[in-house]
Amino acid sequence: DLKDENKFEGTWRLYKLGVPIDKDPGKDFLDVSDGLLEEIAKVLEFPVASLLPREAFSVIRKSFDARKKLKEPKFVHTVDMDVKKLLNLEPRTWDFISQLEPKVGLVEHVHNGRVFGDLMSIIHVHKDSNEGVVANVNGIDIFSGDLYQRRGTRKPKIAVVGGGPSGLFATLVLAELGADVTLMERGQAVEKRGRDIGALVVRRILETESNFCFGEGGAGTWSDGKLVTRIGRNNGSVLAVMRTLVQFGAPQNILVDGKPHLGTDRLVPLLRNFRQHLQELGVSIKFGTRVDDIVIEDGHVLGVMVSDSADRLQGNSQKMEYDAVILAVGHSARDTYQMLLSHNVVLEPKDFAVGLRIEHPQELINSIQYSELASEVRSGRGRVPVADYKVANYFHEEDARDLSNSGVAKRSCYSFCMCPGGQVVLTSTNPSELCINGMSFSRRASRWANAALVVTVTAKDFEALNYYGPLSGVEFQKEFEQRAAMMGGGNFTVPVQTVTDFLERKLSVTSLPPSSYRLGVKAANLHQLFPVHITEALQQSIVAFDKELLGFISKEALLHGVETRTSSPIQIPRDAETYESTSLKGLYPVGEGAGYAGGIISAAVDGMYAGFAVAKNLSLFHGDI
Ligand code: FAD
Repeated sequence: DLKDENKFEGTWRLYKLGVPIDKDPGKDFLDVSDGLLEEIAKVLEFPVASLLPREAFSVIRKSFDARKKLKEPKFVHTVDMDVKKLLNLEPRTWDFISQLEPKVGLVEHVHNGRVFGDLMSIIHVHKDSNEGVVANVNGIDIFSGDLYQRRGTRKPKIAVVGGGPSGLFATLVLAELGADVTLMERGQAVEKRGRDIGALVVRRILETESNFCFGEGGAGTWSDGKLVTRIGRNNGSVLAVMRTLVQFGAPQNILVDGKPHLGTDRLVPLLRNFRQHLQELGVSIKFGTRVDDIVIEDGHVLGVMVSDSADRLQGNSQKMEYDAVILAVGHSARDTYQMLLSHNVVLEPKDFAVGLRIEHPQELINSIQYSELASEVRSGRGRVPVADYKVANYFHEEDARDLSNSGVAKRSCYSFCMCPGGQVVLTSTNPSELCINGMSFSRRASRWANAALVVTVTAKDFEALNYYGPLSGVEFQKEFEQRAAMMGGGNFTVPVQTVTDFLERKLSVTSLPPSSYRLGVKAANLHQLFPVHITEALQQSIVAFDKELLGFISKEALLHGVETRTSSPIQIPRDAETYESTSLKGLYPVGEGAGYAGGIISAAVDGMYAGFAVAKNLSLFHGDI
């Protein structure tokens, strides 16, 4: 019997189903279109597409591919086929499909309908089963906090320091598992933070504790909200995080879109819902509360010293005791790094990247990427997405004298955090330093496209400027942030140079192209900002990028200084299984600031695992009780 489930069952995944743009209803259509059904029929070698039951197929990924090497731009889909829903096909039709064989990269038999839920439901489903085991996420068994309470033991008290993606997800897991969690965030809740950012952008008032880096949601809130990640879109932990974001109000299409994006306008309400859920679970959330110190006894963290603005005016701080402290402070908490160092917590310098942010008119990028299709973008309302790009250039020792003289054998220059339809924003946390990044709203409707162009730097680069030790990378960042502030002339004015002038090493004296940066720009010799090998790496790479993206070098392209906080300049070593600092018991360094993530999703995933690891260490687990 061809319908014998042992022969042909479960879910089959079909890849690389390319639908030409004239046969696709557009980027926002995420169901199975007629054009897609035709492509599915081709892969299945099934003669009549319209006879295929549409309900048997679901789109799990849709991306727009307009690369020049393609004959024509296409929407490329990945589709799951549910064999159960094909069972009613008449025998001959079934016969065709059941001959389906796996083909590398095109057709694959996947797990039997294993569905990843959001974190809360993963935990609850198992909790309700009353068997003790709460969840199994990627092989880690999690146990219910209820059992802990039933045994009459005190709930473990946990401090999570930092309300960015990593801190929020660690808090969520621990609170769902029944721990007594306090979330401490030096910045403000999104409502107040929005006003502080408004004051910065309009009146140049930098609130040092509430800004683009600090506050509810962390550095990712007033951001581009790209949810792309290099840790694997289809892995269970990424899907659990994505589905959790959907639970809190993100649109469903982030689960399907090849380049999922939220934008600040969607992140703000999402964070409010996240906060409300945590509060309903009993989490105590303290905004405007900075952890200034940790309390240590016999090599073990016993708690933290915290202060709010009133305390600081009076020189006070309060002691709070905890069983464990999760440190999710992001990579701009330089004072916190310093504090850790004063307690001999091991911090190690880490490679990162520095450079400049380039801005082009979005229309130019649309036409470079899409040619005549550019008219279909229509400020984010059209059928095709606002165009982006991603470029990289690799250098080896023999490539350039200065690059090799810098003592770093391999270097790369690449575009980073590209924000189509976005704007350049100030991410300084101190008025004497100037650094920038990019953000956007969900429609990506602004007139500009910006991206960082950054060059990798290592301890050798820090040493060349006489910076040594664990915080040498931080000092290196500060050096260029201060130089940029000086070049801009103060008041958060950003130094700029047209790309053509940067290549020719001259000041941009004629009128500058407009910039999206709201606090003003000033022509400056950006080619003198960095050591010569970094400048040369940028110059050579820009020339290479122009070959790939014809028109990238343009009088309308403006370089802005300086991009320094691409990822953490340090790593805090921790045990791979317990997530506990290798130098201080009871301290759990997580997320980007600890050197274990880069971006919203990877930080959230790291926080989630840290939550489970801490739960296990504090015996919220079946096996250990
Ligand atoms: P963070 O988000 O930095 O959160 C750390 C939190 O800890 C902060 O809220 C801070 O206030 C708090 N904190 C620090 N010290 C203390 C202390 N001592 N006491 C109490 N609280 C403290 N990533 C993407 O994936 N996609 C994007 O599109 C994107 N765009 C970005 C745009 C901008 C403008 C910026 C600045 C970053 C962007 N990023 C983006 C990077 C992303 O935001 C980070 O990778 C991510 O937020 C890191 O998460 P985290 O939880 O590790 O740290």
